[in-house]
Amino acid sequence: MLAPSPAGFRRLWPLLKPHRRRLAAGGLCMLVYVACWPLLAWLAGQLIPAIGAGDFPAVLRAVGGALAVFLIQKIAQFGQDTLLAGPALRVSQELRRRVFDRLQRLEFGALEKLSAGDLTYRLTEDADRVGEVIYKTIQDTTPSALQLVVVLGYMIWLDVPLALATLLLAPLVAVLVSVFGARVMAAAERSQKQVSELAALLGEAIGGLPLVRAFAAEPWLQQRFDEEIDLHRQARYRTLKLLALQHPVVGFIEAAGILAVLLIGAARIQAGGLDSQSFSSYVAALLMLIDPISHLTTNYNEFQQGQASLRRLRAIEAEPIETPDRPGARALPTGSVRGELVLEKVSFGYDPAQPVLHDLNLHITPDQVVALVGPSGAGKSTLFSLLLRFNTAQRGRVLLDGHDLADLQARELRRTVALVPQRSNVFSGTVAEAIAFGRPASRAQIVRAAELANADGFIAALPDGYDSRIEERGSNFSGGQLQRLAIARAVLGDPAVLLLDEATSALDAEAEEAVQRGLHQAMAGRTVLVIAHRLATVQEADRILVLEAGRIVEQGTHDGLMARGGRYRDLCLRQFIRLEAEAQTSVS
Ligand code: ADP
Repeated sequence: MLAPSPAGFRRLWPLLKPHRRRLAAGGLCMLVYVACWPLLAWLAGQLIPAIGAGDFPAVLRAVGGALAVFLIQKIAQFGQDTLLAGPALRVSQELRRRVFDRLQRLEFGALEKLSAGDLTYRLTEDADRVGEVIYKTIQDTTPSALQLVVVLGYMIWLDVPLALATLLLAPLVAVLVSVFGARVMAAAERSQKQVSELAALLGEAIGGLPLVRAFAAEPWLQQRFDEEIDLHRQARYRTLKLLALQHPVVGFIEAAGILAVLLIGAARIQAGGLDSQSFSSYVAALLMLIDPISHLTTNYNEFQQGQASLRRLRAIEAEPIETPDRPGARALPTGSVRGELVLEKVSFGYDPAQPVLHDLNLHITPDQVVALVGPSGAGKSTLFSLLLRFNTAQRGRVLLDGHDLADLQARELRRTVALVPQRSNVFSGTVAEAIAFGRPASRAQIVRAAELANADGFIAALPDGYDSRIEERGSNFSGGQLQRLAIARAVLGDPAVLLLDEATSALDAEAEEAVQRGLHQAMAGRTVLVIAHRLATVQEADRILVLEAGRIVEQGTHDGLMARGGRYRDLCLRQFIRLEAEAQTSVS
């Protein structure tokens, strides 16, 4: 019962395999360390009666021996701790790496369900806790358990009846420990859930602080926060109360047990079954049990908490990942993609029972600029997600240059279909790194991409040029600059298809013009699909598609569609004219 169920942690064993040699060396040190305990108990058996008898030479021998054994033991302990720490830390690092790797491959739907705060908590706090358990198990629990076994073996060898009496007390402790353990675990899980809810709220709150202030909603948010931290305190208090109760109870049982053993030992000496030297050794050995038992109980509790953490970490692995490439999936011939896009009766729904796109048919010739317009929720972003193969059509086919996207390697496809998102989030790092974004690119290629995006001018004017640092969330750059960096990032790999989600927020006229110039240059010679929010964009597009509730309801040029006086005209009057007007007022 005392043995923790290692189901979750057992699956981590394979991660230790590469570190066999260090583990073996550490294990050897551990054996030396543990073997010293019965030796010390034996020496105590020599020492105590010698002190009683005033036999000074014997006392000196025993003390000298004990000193030597202690020295060897402490050196072995140092070896054990240092040799085992490395592998333990590497296992927790590897675990964190794997979970993050999984996170990167999760289906977007699954990712959206998990809040950023919660995920951050899992990958930091939970991963730390699991790491701690791995470390403790290897470096503390194992030698403690070994010490328990070896010292108990020595005690049995010294006197069987006395050892039996001692052993009768052990289950009592074990039962108490496991009863508390289960309750501590449940309480710990509740308290961890609370912390992660707190983190989720914090994540939301920090992102939304300007909004909160704008609505004067601080008292409301403070109250929500107060409620959350109160729940957290309560949950934590329950755990601490249980832990507080556990230590005295277990401690008292231990003390009573030791006193009982002393009593029985005295009776054994009286009866002539035991000599005083052996009894002294026995008592010394008994005292040597306290430490490992206390370590094992503490570690057991941490183990329970760690299991809750491991479960939460592992839950990420249970989320669905992006559909992998089909076996035999092909790469596109590099450099020769023309950018012809064809949709054949494409239907798709995030929930297959509720299609978001219905039977879409579309043929976009290379180098065409196609504007997508339509009310929010019409399926414009969803169409992008199909072209990037974030999602795969349930019915119909999407073809690029005649190749079914489903037959292509997704990573290769994404090299030739590039996205300029609405919110140009660039990662922190240098400007050059933000444009390269992990792809191998020479400085000349980066500069070329920046030139195309009309970003070279402002970058060159920065104190460190392309090596200037971008702060987190690009806070030291203007909106227009970030948009141009995002355009440069998109055109770096010379993609045949550009997917552009126009920003809705208005820039000032000058910045707007700079971004537009970058876009024009970037679009030249590519097939472009743009989710349009600006009148100028739709006016200039070769073709406009009006999407409504997942269907193409109208298509044509701006003039043609305006003349027709249908959905587009309504939309245009409602949406674009208003946005233009907003842009005008925001500038003036
Ligand atoms: P648009 O870009 O035109 O505003 P979207 O493509 O974002 O429209 O959304 C189309 C529909 O699909 C909407 O009803 C939206 O609620 C739904 N939708 C979008 N993304 C998801 C998702 N990840 N999971 C489930 N439904 C989604």
